[in-house]
Amino acid sequence: MITLDRTKGSLELKQEVMDSGVCARCGLCAELCPYIKAVGERVALVYPCGLEEGNCYRLCPRTPTDWEQIDRSVFNRERVDHVLGNHLEILFARSLQDDAAEKGQYGGVVSALAAYLLEQGRVSGAVLAGGPAGETPQAVVATSRGEVLACAGSHYSAAPTLSAVHRAVKEGMDSLAVVGRPCQVLALRKMQGLKDAPGYLPAKDKVEFIIGLFCFWSLETEIYDLLSRRAGGQKILKVDIPQDFLTITTESGSTNIPIEEVRPFIRPTCQLCFDPTSEFADVSVGSTEYDPQWNTLIVRSTKGKEIVDAARAEGIIETKAYPDERLPLLYQAVRNKKLRVLQALESGQEAGYLRLTDQYRENLKRERGMNL
Ligand SMILES: Cc1cc2nc3c(=O)[nH]c(=O)nc-3n(C[C@H](O)[C@H](O)[C@H](O)COP(=O)(O)OP(=O)(O)OC[C@H]3O[C@@H](n4cnc5c(N)ncnc54)[C@H](O)[C@@H]3O)c2cc1C
Repeated sequence: MITLDRTKGSLELKQEVMDSGVCARCGLCAELCPYIKAVGERVALVYPCGLEEGNCYRLCPRTPTDWEQIDRSVFNRERVDHVLGNHLEILFARSLQDDAAEKGQYGGVVSALAAYLLEQGRVSGAVLAGGPAGETPQAVVATSRGEVLACAGSHYSAAPTLSAVHRAVKEGMDSLAVVGRPCQVLALRKMQGLKDAPGYLPAKDKVEFIIGLFCFWSLETEIYDLLSRRAGGQKILKVDIPQDFLTITTESGSTNIPIEEVRPFIRPTCQLCFDPTSEFADVSVGSTEYDPQWNTLIVRSTKGKEIVDAARAEGIIETKAYPDERLPLLYQAVRNKKLRVLQALESGQEAGYLRLTDQYRENLKRERGMNL
């Protein structure tokens, strides 16, 4: 059993997370109270509230986290797979709806599922990241298919879009779908799991469905200046990061920026992130690194399976078996990322939020020797 800090508040959040540079910029603490604001992509405590205990500290994905407790509360089971986390199915998937397939970053599964949840009345709003490609994204609360599709595509920076969760609830929405990076998914699950939340937290029970993105790292906001320069002032239509370069597409064609030029923009805090596949989401969606028309889809919770089964049955998405020869590559990439983080911790780097139990570490170490 891990003892978590229950008596810390916004001042400790500022010291331990914001000032020390480990803030994931998930945005869930912003707009939670009047004192924490998202300013561009940064999250700042604008006034010391003086409370000794705060939900802001407890739901932060960078404060101590009991991962095993979250596994139990979300999935009602211990994890068996310490690399990819709890899951029921691993699939290739793509949207069968032309609009989502065309606008989506890859197979459009995220947009197709978010629009499906809205159209089915399963949720009243979807919290997304939107705005023009190649520019800092904005937090969006979509209430229609058109608004979901307008947000399709990836912005590779850490936009604090979860601030919109509180805004949506204040505006009267009582069930939300949220699309987010792994840090954002973790924050949402920590919020849902707060048993004795001090103070007002109306969004706690309002997140109905979480679509997590794969994310091995995000880039500093300054990347957008580089993209704009390389686009030569032309409107950027799409940004993608295949393995060895970042590609920007404009009406005149595509430009590749070598990954070495991009690496300096990787946010250092992402190098200490232990979860590249959104392990606590209902479903996780990434690229296939193989066929850009398809996504990798990890179905994790029973709710996730229910929605994926229904979307499949209604012809919203199609799925196929994950190719046997690709699965070891996925495991290898994720396991290597986790091992890099463990090595960094063993060499003395701090990641206070990664308070793993001895058993958890043991399980991972056993998998270190796994020969896939
Ligand atoms: C910072 C970042 C890093 C990523 N790294 C990887 C990776 O290493 N490997 C991999 O396989 N996949 C990665 N992805 C995921 C990938 O880019 C696609 O989002 C995913 O495969 C879904 O594809 P799709 O066609 O279903 O998306 P779409 O249907 O186009 O939907 C994309 C959704 O992503 C949301 N979104 C866009 N930018 C952000 C953001 N910055 N923060 C939160 N939400 C956002 C939008 O709201 C939209 O709903 C990353 C995504 C992001 C945002």
